[in-house]
Formats: sequence, C-alpha cells, structure tokens
Amino acid sequence: MCAQTKIEWTDYTLNWWEGCQKVGPGCDHCYAEARDKRFTGGTHWGPGAPRRKVKGAPAKLRKIQREAMAFNDAQGRWPRVFCSSLSDVFDNAVPEAWRHEFFDALEEADSCSVQLLTKRVGNVARMIPESWGRIGWPAHIGLMITVVNQQEADRDIPKLLDLKARHNIPWVGLSMEPLLEPVDLTRLQPTIFEAEVNALTGVWNWKNGPSRKESPAVDWVIVGGESGPNARPMHPDWARSLLDQCDTSGTPFFMKQMGGKRKPFPAIPNDLDVKAFPEAC
Ligand code: SF4
Repeated sequence: MCAQTKIEWTDYTLNWWEGCQKVGPGCDHCYAEARDKRFTGGTHWGPGAPRRKVKGAPAKLRKIQREAMAFNDAQGRWPRVFCSSLSDVFDNAVPEAWRHEFFDALEEADSCSVQLLTKRVGNVARMIPESWGRIGWPAHIGLMITVVNQQEADRDIPKLLDLKARHNIPWVGLSMEPLLEPVDLTRLQPTIFEAEVNALTGVWNWKNGPSRKESPAVDWVIVGGESGPNARPMHPDWARSLLDQCDTSGTPFFMKQMGGKRKPFPAIPNDLDVKAFPEAC
C-alpha cells in the first residue's frame, strides 16, 4: 500500500500542487512554506509566485483508489484522503486547469473518503466544478475549513454551513489548529448574515424575519495547538471548552495535540487526559 501519513485524523495526504500564500494568523508559522524553502527552493509562496505541480499525485491517488477495497476489508471503512496539506485547494493563484484536473481525479476516486481543507471558504462556490453546483456535490467528498480564533469562526463558519445547505455537501468539518484563543461555536455573530448561529446544532436565530431556522450543522471538530519553532501556546481550557460544546450537541470531537513546549500558562491539569478524547470518525 502507499505510505500513510502521521496525521491521526486521516489515512493519506494528497497534494496536486505545492505553494500558497498566507491569508491569516493560522498561516504565521506555515510548515509547508518552511518545507518549500528547505526542499524546493522556496519560490512557491506569495501572491505572484508560481505554484509547483506534484508529478506523482495522480498515480498516488489511483493507487489509493485501487487499494481501497483491501483497505476497507482490513479497516472496515474507506480510506480517508486529506487534500491539501502543503497548499490550498481554493487558492486564487492556482491555474484553473490544474484545479479542474484535480477535481476530475477526485470524482473518479469514489472509493475514497476525500477530505478537502481550505482557509478560503469564500472561494469555494465559484471554484467548484459547474456540475457539483448543478447536479450535486460528490457523496464521497467532504469539506473542512480552518478556524483559529473567534473572528474567523464568526466570518467563515456561517459561509461553510450555507455552502453545505446549498450544495448538499455530505459532511463539513472544522480544523481548529493552531487554536489561538477561546472560541464559542454556539453563538456565532456572522459578518454577512443578520443572525446568531449555533454551528453545532445548525440553529440560526435571525435578527430580522423568521426568528429561528434549522439548517445543517458542523459534523466534526478537530482541535490542536501549534507545534514547531516559536509555537504559540494553547490554553487547555480553550480545548476543554470546545470539547464541552461538542459534547452538548453530540458533535464528534478529535483532540489532535496540545502543541509546542512553551508553556506560559499553568501546567496542564492531571485530569486532562487527551488520549481519552473520542476519535472523530
Ligand atoms: S493556507 Fe495553509 S498552506 Fe497556505 S500559507 Fe496558510 S497554512 Fe500555509
């Protein structure tokens, strides 16, 4: 089988291209940019920089798809494929032809559980294939966004839920890594909608118009602190609060890691057993 990843919430990573541009505080210590500097010349980051196509990606995806039945026999589920760990699927600077080719390949990999992750949720509707909007989103592809603080939660999660409702996306998730502050997912104040939104139950309380509307909710939440040099610390209570919020709504929660070794906060209490947190899916 293909080499698998050490990322606990997936089985494989797939990058059709590498290179990106920083778009928020979660990007400050981007591992992929450091890796680009180290291994491929450091010329693929920023607004004008050309992205680098990964030659082996199509063959890798075909192999995962070929071996998916054996994976299913062994694990009792289809292999999860995380796209993209060293880039962003909905990056403006990527040639549209690359993205179309990538989406075509993903559609054919229908024995995989594809996990798209983006920090650019505002680009999704105009960059997905026209057929996904017209006929329907593929049933084996889900969408995750990165959220690192309350401002991003308020701005981006309502857009994600709106996309889920409009395109019938089979599942949507949050990658809250690196978590930089406490976040309340149950009382979002959207920047583009006049409502207060509970992301975990899908209840929208509109300020004008019908007072309450049920809509799709977030299906899973991953939380992690930052690792690597100069890692910004995550207080255990921020993770604990998100666990409690998810517990209340029954939303699957996965605690990835507490993060780097710098600890200006009080030590982690002995009773916070991160291994005991349930796996997301
Ligand atoms: S979106 Fe992801 S890959 Fe792109 S700069 Fe930010 S952290 Fe790095």
